[in-house]
Amino acid sequence: MKRTFIQRAILPVILVLLLSTLLSACGGRSQPALVNGKINIVASFYPLYDFASKIGGDHVNVVNLVPAGVEPHDWSPKSRDIQNLTKSDLFVYLGAGFEGWVHDTLDSLKKDSKTVVVEASRGIELLPGTEEEHGDEHGHNEKKDDHGHDEKKEEGKDEHGHDHGNTDPHVWLSPANAKQLAVNIKDALIQVDTAHKADYEANFKKLADRLEQLDGKYKSELAKTSKKDIVVTHQSFGYLAKAYGLNQKAIMGLAPDAEPTSKDMKNILQFIKDNQVKYIFFEELVSDKLAKTLAKDAGVETLVLSPIEGLTEEQAKKGDDYVSLMENNLNNLLKALQ
Ligand SMILES: [Zn+2]
Repeated sequence: MKRTFIQRAILPVILVLLLSTLLSACGGRSQPALVNGKINIVASFYPLYDFASKIGGDHVNVVNLVPAGVEPHDWSPKSRDIQNLTKSDLFVYLGAGFEGWVHDTLDSLKKDSKTVVVEASRGIELLPGTEEEHGDEHGHNEKKDDHGHDEKKEEGKDEHGHDHGNTDPHVWLSPANAKQLAVNIKDALIQVDTAHKADYEANFKKLADRLEQLDGKYKSELAKTSKKDIVVTHQSFGYLAKAYGLNQKAIMGLAPDAEPTSKDMKNILQFIKDNQVKYIFFEELVSDKLAKTLAKDAGVETLVLSPIEGLTEEQAKKGDDYVSLMENNLNNLLKALQ
């Protein structure tokens, strides 16, 4: 009798302990750590992670701050991320107002950190972040983070502290700009680890060649299409549109967190009709509900156009990278614009 009682009392405790161990193990897996004996690079989001990994090759360990499957516009670092960052050799962030958290983070980093910091968008001509179709409709989304961004609301910034009002941060979606990002990462890496300069230059050359080929393919293929209008989920293809003579119409603003008004939706439906748009593009890390609803109302189809702000878990497993996703994007653009 007594034994049964003890079993009954203790078993749940053991189960709870087991479960919490399992949960913490899962949580730990998504937090990659720094590695001794390698040049540790912390990248603020996927494209920078991809380029830093390719340029650094075997000499580096790259930590991507934003895990697979997570949309980076809304992301901000946890204390573990800041710890990694402080101990890393090189921190690569985009700039151009993309990482609303970065200035506070850099301020706290300066004191005793030896980390070299590079703003990868340096030298890229930025487009203004106009949102004329959407105005200021962030109001529905009262999400607050715990980093005090709300209190530091500045002119031209939304509730997440992003500088959306001033510049369009999505520079990486033009391959020519992507090459400039790679140049800045390569130069910073050589500054951190001059001994392996030749390897970094060689790896960079390989990546730059792929990006140039990609740019050439986009130019020649998109020049042949008769249609030029693309309807996309969030306004992230400004640089791509400018580089290849396309016209972007976005359902949402520069960040995928502002739902359009019914007036916006009507306006886009009219645009689809007027310009014989056949496909509405959606993206994998943001709900496709709006795109699907619009497509249904307009009697058109949907296709993926990835802003490559992160990989899905599936893409990460498959070994997709910036170039393969941009090639997918080109195929879908050609399908939609023929
Ligand atoms: Zn975006």
